Amino acid sequence: MLNNSPWIEQLEDINYDQLEKTVDAEVCVVGAGISGCLSAYYILENTQKSVILLDAWKVGQSASGHNAGQVINQFERSAKSIEKEFGTKKVIEARQVIEDSWTRLLEILDKIDLTPQPRIFKGYDAYNSVEQLNNILDDLVVYNKLGQRNFEKLYILKDIHIDHKYAGLYQRIELKKLKDYLDTQRDDFVGALERKTLIMNSALVCQKLIQFLLQVYPKRFRVFEKTEVIRIDLGLQNSFLKCNKGLVNCNKIVLCTNGFENFQINNKNGEDIIKSFHQNIIGKVGLMQGYFSFDYKEEIYSAVSYSPRKGNLKEYEEYIYTTKRRFGEGFLLTVGGTEMNLKEGYKYNRDVDYKADKYKNLEKFIITEYANLPKKVIKKYHWHGLMGYTKNMIRIVGVEPRNKNLLYNLGCNGVGLLPSVFGGWKISQIIGGKKVEKDIFDSV
Ligand SMILES: Cc1cc2nc3c(=O)[nH]c(=O)nc-3n(C[C@H](O)[C@H](O)[C@H](O)COP(=O)(O)OP(=O)(O)OC[C@H]3O[C@@H](n4cnc5c(N)ncnc54)[C@H](O)[C@@H]3O)c2cc1C
Repeated sequence: MLNNSPWIEQLEDINYDQLEKTVDAEVCVVGAGISGCLSAYYILENTQKSVILLDAWKVGQSASGHNAGQVINQFERSAKSIEKEFGTKKVIEARQVIEDSWTRLLEILDKIDLTPQPRIFKGYDAYNSVEQLNNILDDLVVYNKLGQRNFEKLYILKDIHIDHKYAGLYQRIELKKLKDYLDTQRDDFVGALERKTLIMNSALVCQKLIQFLLQVYPKRFRVFEKTEVIRIDLGLQNSFLKCNKGLVNCNKIVLCTNGFENFQINNKNGEDIIKSFHQNIIGKVGLMQGYFSFDYKEEIYSAVSYSPRKGNLKEYEEYIYTTKRRFGEGFLLTVGGTEMNLKEGYKYNRDVDYKADKYKNLEKFIITEYANLPKKVIKKYHWHGLMGYTKNMIRIVGVEPRNKNLLYNLGCNGVGLLPSVFGGWKISQIIGGKKVEKDIFDSV
């Protein structure tokens, strides 16, 4: 099955040069997905440094061009477990800095020309068991400590028994309304978490942002595509990136590769940069399917994540998520969620047909569970992308302790869009010499 991402279809055909000689810059950002583009943006905006952005492939066309595009503030781990590892203050602060990224993202979207301009609406996580409700209630308890306000609203079905200790953390809801929020035909959901959501084509955001930066900073910014970094030599002052053709001579290097760079790092300034860090990023291939239609007319924006139903093989044992949005002259419904681990030692290939039969699960879900299927589908899309999961399932944003010239903004852990805004901003503060508090994202 063709990997025909609708997001890449919306891109303009723009090609940047391949690096073929030696170039100098103060900072080299490796990877031109959303993390690299945002890192370049913030470094240019917040410092006076010159920046080179390199990509082994094309701007915005890796994971950033193969996702669902839901912008949400969510960790892939329970707040309770993050609290256990880092303490209450750190988990609350981490959630707050990601929340602060909303304003930053909207400022950026305002500067680039996107039509229609993405806007914020209410998205939902759908729960079908009391166990799932209790887990989310435990997270809300953590988030409510230290006087922190709630960012989400939890709705629970009228007759579901909930322990007294969670009083005040949820609102009751009728089944009809719950089904309505969840775009579902099924009657067995027991609750939903409502959260601020925006959906965007992150590949298009990358492309537009790069065009904007080239216009605003013509003297300080250059981009090279099809330029793969093969080796990095880190020095005390100067560092070098050897590419398939050409060489970059710079002071700071920011890795925005999502964790799959496949190059060697030599540290001339001390201890080896342990290769196992990179090997510890687990690759997961996520599948998605899209239905283009002219059917929807009114309020069509929606985003719902359906929790897995465990134990019954006839049901769905994985997260399934849907989005609905304007797309060109019509509308696009997307469904995704089937993920599989990339076998160790295997390189992800965007042209391989990863488990095409699994797309049938997504189709079955849409037909049997989804309430708002378009009557006439004009075009179907199938696509897949690679996600990088860190060992502790928390993004890595910070400085390599063995050589301060190397920085990271990577490890998407499934939900990487809003955190990459924070990541880019934080990296610019470090490079700009500002004092930055240690946070949970420093765990290199
Ligand atoms: C199916 C799917 C659904 C998703 N849905 C969502 C969602 O709804 N919400 C959300 O928040 N997140 C989602 N994500 C995750 C989100 O897409 C990622 O967080 C984000 O795109 C990662 O951006 P990135 O820039 O870090 O990585 P990428 O976009 O993968 O960019 C990394 C770049 O680094 C380059 N690179 C790697 N090695 C080298 C090298 N040696 N030399 C030069 N360049 C190199 C690559 O070519 C690539 O272009 C989803 C991901 C997938 C796959």
